This record gives sequence, structure tokens and C-alpha cells, in this order.
Amino acid sequence: MECTCGGKAVYFRRYSGQVFCKPCFNNYFERKVHDTIRKHTMVQRGEKIGVGVSGGKDSTVLLSVLAKIAGNLEITLHPILVDEGIEDYRESGICAAEKTCKDLSFILDLPSFKEETDFTLDELQSEGDHKPCTYCGVLRRKLLNQKANELMLDKLATGHNLDDEAQAIMMNYISGNIERLHRLKGNASDPDLIKRIKPLRELPEKEIMLYALLNNLEISTDECPYAKENHRTKIRDFINNLEQDQPGVKYSIIRGWEKLAKTSRPEKTQMQKCNVCNQPTSRKICRACELTEEIKIKRGDTTKDVAD
Ligand code: SF4
Ligand code: ZN
Repeated sequence: MECTCGGKAVYFRRYSGQVFCKPCFNNYFERKVHDTIRKHTMVQRGEKIGVGVSGGKDSTVLLSVLAKIAGNLEITLHPILVDEGIEDYRESGICAAEKTCKDLSFILDLPSFKEETDFTLDELQSEGDHKPCTYCGVLRRKLLNQKANELMLDKLATGHNLDDEAQAIMMNYISGNIERLHRLKGNASDPDLIKRIKPLRELPEKEIMLYALLNNLEISTDECPYAKENHRTKIRDFINNLEQDQPGVKYSIIRGWEKLAKTSRPEKTQMQKCNVCNQPTSRKICRACELTEEIKIKRGDTTKDVAD
């Protein structure tokens, strides 16, 4: 098998029957990211775009490809890595992300759960009653938003890929969570909430890994020790099995959701400022403050910073 240009094949894409050599694959991949950004009008000329990075393959590839096309799109990039405080896991991601940022001449912003909330994720999960991914998701979202506001960013790009999107859509269908389904569109309901964009949402996870390997990108392949407790893993396996029998089903899932999203409107959420941290929220006290406050109460720490 060889590429249409005659080059040595490195990839056979099952769902389209195409064969790619390395240069043709890189061209296709970078063009796809560019076209996805244009198709969904993800950025405007002159915008400051935050890039959420972790040192893993998705966000490393995202930052590397965006760095190549930022000039053409006339945007500037600001990588941010949130250190959750997960022992024997997070360090390797930070090292990989620091190396990528150094190679691409970016300064990496590195906020941490510990600095911002007084707790590492390890402490939260061992002392609290919720699943680690609940603490992680809620606090990471808050810290990224806070950082984006501090840096006066226009949008935040994340490394979510086609597989992540398909999984999130299926999970929310199964739980009937329409509000979260709408949130996948990334529309911020408050001017202080950063709008999110997902330039890799049309690219399957395995193509992202291939791009990282072919281009020798520095990535951490360590898996979060809490990942096995994640319900998403079961959904991922289910969709991957479907994809085996029916190549292209991941695209069908997101296309179906896009059609549905056009026909329905999210309920308007009334936003206000959290009584504790002053960040935007739909409640009196934001979920992040609520979660950390529960642990302070358990520890017998003061609750004086929580207003009525
Ligand atoms: Fe956070 Fe859960 Fe992901 Fe680990 S698996 S990084 S705890 S969301
Ligand atoms: Zn708060």
C-alpha cells in the first residue's frame, strides 16, 4: 500500500479507505484543524487564545498545530496547565508541557489546586465524599476560567478530540442531561465565563497519537490513577466496539448532536457572583467553593469565609 503521492504509507484510514504517507498525513491533519476552526468560526482575528495543556498527547498536539497556524489566523496563544496535585502522575505531564512550551517559545502558566484552594486533588479525594473526577472537573474549570480572566483572554482552546466529544454526547444522552449537552457547544452564559473552543473535535484520538509520534512531540503517556473510577471509560469502550463494526460511527454521533442542537435552545441560566470567591455561577455559592467548604467543615476548619 502506498500514498496517492507515491510516498511510503504510514496510515490507513479505515472509514474513508485513504492511505497516507507522513507529509500527506501532516498536511491533512493541520488543514483539518484549520478548517474546523474556520467552519465553526472559533476565533476572530487579533484574539488572545488560552490553550489548556496537560502534557498529554491531545493538548500537546493542539498547542503544536495551533502554533503553526496562529500566524495565518492572526491570533496569539497562551498555554495554561492546571496542576491538580496528583502524586506520581502530574509531574511527568508538567515536564512534557514545559519542554513543548520552551521549544515553541511560549511561557507556561501553571496555577495549582493547592495554591488556589489549599487542597491537592489527592487530599480532596481522600477526605471528601465525592469521586476524584468530580473535584477535578469542577475545580479545573474554575481555575482555568479565573486564569483566563486574569490574562484577559478571549477564548480557551482545549484538546478535546472526536472520541471525547462522542463520549460526552453519549454520556449526556444516557443521563438525559440536556443542559450539559448544550454546554458542549462551548457558549458562555456570562461575560466572565470564558468561551471554550475545541479545534481537535473532528479528529479521532488515534490520528492525534499518530501525529504526536510522527512529529516526535514530547508527551506524557502516564494515565491518571483515578481514571479507572471514571464512568467515561465504559462509554469509551462501548463506542470503540461500535466503531469497529461500523467505521465512522463517532462522526455520526457528533453530526446527530449538531443537528439536534440547531433545533433546540438551552434554558437561560441566571448567572450571579459566588458569595465566597466572586466567580460567576448560577448558585449563591459556586460548586467549587461548596466542595472545598464541605472538607473544611469535616476538618473542623472555620467556615467564616462563607457568606449567607
Ligand atoms: Fe481528573 Fe479524573 Fe481526569 Fe484524573 S481521570 S485527571 S481525576 S478528571
Ligand atoms: Zn466560589
